[in-house]
Amino acid sequence: MAVQTAASSTGSSVSTVSTVDLGPATALSCRECGHRVPLGPVFACEECFGPLEVAYDFSAYDTEGLRKRIEEGPTSLWRYAPLLPVPADVADKPNLNPGWTRLVQADHLARELGVDAGKLFVKDDSGNPTHSFKDRVVAQALEAARAFGFTTLSCSSTGNLAGAVGAAAARAGFRSCVFIPHDLEQGKVVMAAVYGGRLVGIEGTYDDVNRFCSELIGDPAGEGWGFVNVNLRPYYAEGSKTLAYEICEQLGWRLPDQIVVPIASGSQLTKIDKGLRELIELGLVEDKPYKIFGAQAEGCSPVSAAFKAGHDVVRPQKPDTIAKSLAIGNPADGPYVLDIARRTGGAVEDVTDEQIVDAIKLLARTEGIFAETAGGVTVGVTRKLIENGVLDPAKTTVVLNTGDGLKTLDAVAGTGLTATIRPNLDSFREAGLQ
Ligand SMILES: *Cc1c(COP(=O)(O)O)cnc(C)c1O
Ligand SMILES: [Zn+2]
Repeated sequence: MAVQTAASSTGSSVSTVSTVDLGPATALSCRECGHRVPLGPVFACEECFGPLEVAYDFSAYDTEGLRKRIEEGPTSLWRYAPLLPVPADVADKPNLNPGWTRLVQADHLARELGVDAGKLFVKDDSGNPTHSFKDRVVAQALEAARAFGFTTLSCSSTGNLAGAVGAAAARAGFRSCVFIPHDLEQGKVVMAAVYGGRLVGIEGTYDDVNRFCSELIGDPAGEGWGFVNVNLRPYYAEGSKTLAYEICEQLGWRLPDQIVVPIASGSQLTKIDKGLRELIELGLVEDKPYKIFGAQAEGCSPVSAAFKAGHDVVRPQKPDTIAKSLAIGNPADGPYVLDIARRTGGAVEDVTDEQIVDAIKLLARTEGIFAETAGGVTVGVTRKLIENGVLDPAKTTVVLNTGDGLKTLDAVAGTGLTATIRPNLDSFREAGLQ
């Protein structure tokens, strides 16, 4: 195993490691200027401060051999290990083996929304080990942390990431210390604390938490710490590609026509696009146009506001919404989300807290899926985009549910008993229940 010697925020002073085994990953390359650096715990380009992304060598794969290897692989996201920055034997290492969640054909929801039968699907990531899509990204960051010799896993979180990091650290034998805004939902706090790591509430918004973590990385106090979404961010982000891979494989190795994705930092949306493009380049799906739609809550809608105003830059907002998992007022990947929505012919839209609650109930009532507020955002935005004629109800559409309603019970408080009766038939009849 390679030894990590220093972690720095920009890479200017880092001793990068030359012998890490992260599978097909060959280097980090700058999304803005293309500058390449060796694989290491760095996230910003030393030339232009642009974000670094994992670069791969996929040249050894032939399409049908790769397809067979994937189909015969484990029923977790590790079936796509040949396309991820992880060692080939990753599935044998202690981790949570997330992914390969169900793709639900949502015909009842389709009827309510006016979508053609058989055309609407919900990718239900509440089925992951800690009940959100964050297990996918943490699983990648964990392998990078192992490769670089970190001993503590950390993150700044809007809630779900804290739980995913705590659980992954417990399973893999790492220490963990995670940072969250102090006023999160109780379900998220308990979920993050129960795995036994340190959980620190910060008096401030997520954006304050994130800024604090960046400071900690540059300080000796943070030495040996792998922040999954900061200094390990290039690796972490790749986990979201697996949503694209799974959706296409579950559709029978077909691209969807339209996909509705929630936006917090925007990382997930940008990497879903990257995953779809990789499948096309590898010949695993037939090339055809697809549209990516971004979904935000009105109370934290910096990307949606920029999209509607025709801007390329995203003006930060102070979040105020029940969709706390998406409450990032200054989203790092916002400009890339705008690019992708515009390039693919998609859009970015937002819904009110009331519409989020209605959408949570609609999805539960029609398909038996209890989504957290982020799922209410995507379903609510899907409904709005159909009503506005932006999303085509005749095309294959996949809506993401990225989290579990049990973590955001307050959003649907007031939903409860139909009646309370005495334990006899008269009482049952009187209540009009037959
Ligand atoms: C983190 C998160 C997202 C998306 O996050 P990005 O920062 O945009 O990648 C979506 N849904 C839920 C439930 C989340 O916790
Ligand atoms: Zn650069």
